[in-house]
Amino acid sequence: MKPLAVSISEKKNLLIQWDDGTNSQIELRFLRRYCPCATCSEQRESQSKSYIPLFFADQVKVKSISEVGNYAIGITWRDGHNTGIYEFPYLKFLAQSNNAV
Ligand SMILES: [Zn+2]
Repeated sequence: MKPLAVSISEKKNLLIQWDDGTNSQIELRFLRRYCPCATCSEQRESQSKSYIPLFFADQVKVKSISEVGNYAIGITWRDGHNTGIYEFPYLKFLAQSNNAV
């Protein structure tokens, strides 16, 4: 499973077209909240369940998207944060979780 196309729609959603014919849509603020890098993971673990994250505009805007090997995409956010490597299964999982809320 890998993306055929990755794009940003309306400046607030990440759209992924997969090679299995499915599509995923993830809100950028959701994507940022669940950034898989070590720093963000640690922050999430120290927060309570009721914590409501606040982001500055630049933290939820994507500057660029790059391919990482053939298993993930790397996202550079407008605020310069770029250590999150989103593996394909994780993106699928996020899209499903995002639709569930
Ligand atoms: Zn991060």
